[in-house]
Amino acid sequence: MSTIMQNLENNKKRLTSQILEKALKGIRITPEEAYYLYIEGDFLEIQYVAREIRNRINQPGIVSYTAFRVINYTNYCNVECSFCSFMDEINSNRGYVLTKDEILKKMEEAIALGAPQMFFQGGVYPKIPFDYYLDILSSVKKEFGKEIHIRGFSPIELLNLKNITGLSLEEVLIQLKQAGLDSVPGAGAEILTERMRNLLSPKKTTPEEWVYVMETCHKLNLKGSANIVWGSEETKWEVIQHLNLIRDLQDRTQGFFSFIPWTFQKQTKKFYVRNVPANEYLKVLAICRIFLDNIPHIETSLMVLGKGVGQIALQSGADDVSSVIIEENVLKSYGINNEDNLKEFLLESGFFPIKRDFNYQYYTNPKFFLKSQKGNI
Ligand code: SF4
Repeated sequence: MSTIMQNLENNKKRLTSQILEKALKGIRITPEEAYYLYIEGDFLEIQYVAREIRNRINQPGIVSYTAFRVINYTNYCNVECSFCSFMDEINSNRGYVLTKDEILKKMEEAIALGAPQMFFQGGVYPKIPFDYYLDILSSVKKEFGKEIHIRGFSPIELLNLKNITGLSLEEVLIQLKQAGLDSVPGAGAEILTERMRNLLSPKKTTPEEWVYVMETCHKLNLKGSANIVWGSEETKWEVIQHLNLIRDLQDRTQGFFSFIPWTFQKQTKKFYVRNVPANEYLKVLAICRIFLDNIPHIETSLMVLGKGVGQIALQSGADDVSSVIIEENVLKSYGINNEDNLKEFLLESGFFPIKRDFNYQYYTNPKFFLKSQKGNI
């Protein structure tokens, strides 16, 4: 190697070490430093620091998981995100709206299997009256008890409810909360920059609207998670900009329990998807752990990259594997589809599994554990 090349290499190592040492001392790294780690940092060094930080924030040797049923109450949607294969156009006559009885039946099945949580989300369909939502939420609580956790509504759905009712967002949220809503998923974020919004989903909430809705939810104690979905035409700097927007919001509200890095899956031909390689996914996950110093948990999803990458993710900053999901209409399940599989996977990976609810409270009541040792849920 020439002297110039050697010097460049040494400088790179020195700068990476400086940034990582700073993080290890508990000093917040800047967006520019996170960007440097993304483009130049050595993965193994980043991974080491992310794991150290993970073990300071969360108990080493323990990985949590949860179980819930996704209820996609309608697939009619007028937002037309380019990456979505789930939606049907309004008036197409191909879509559906679930009835209250259908939803209660789905939840009855889920609870019987040990998944006492409902993830309630759907398309944006202004013809559904506000009473439908209130009725579903209150009926689930009435039928199955107040301890059933209901998480629901992405920011764009909440803005739709504001529009159809003419109420303020606060009033919409207060009514949903009174009816039974416990938390919000922070969904529909993808990449929160104006350029990517215009490219992928121009009719969706702008980054400012997304922040406004989440901030309002958090103020009303409707907390939840946040995520990133990358692997399209975003730049690496836009990935960091997204993380920075989330970190700033979290500084103001402390409303995110966890952060979940996802990658886009090829679901339609209407947008560009590149295959994010495993090493890039893991590097970004580790950077998330280091950069998001104010968010307690980092989740890895086994659905996206599979068990092998999932095991490395648990050594790279993640402390949770998200969930056994019952019925997911947006992504297909990947290899693990019952609670026993998930627990075995965690034990084989060297971790003790602990079941939690959406808000990271560990379950102690045995009725919330798997009822049947066999059969997919
Ligand atoms: S991702 Fe959600 S908001 Fe976008 S088109 Fe699909 S259902 Fe509608």
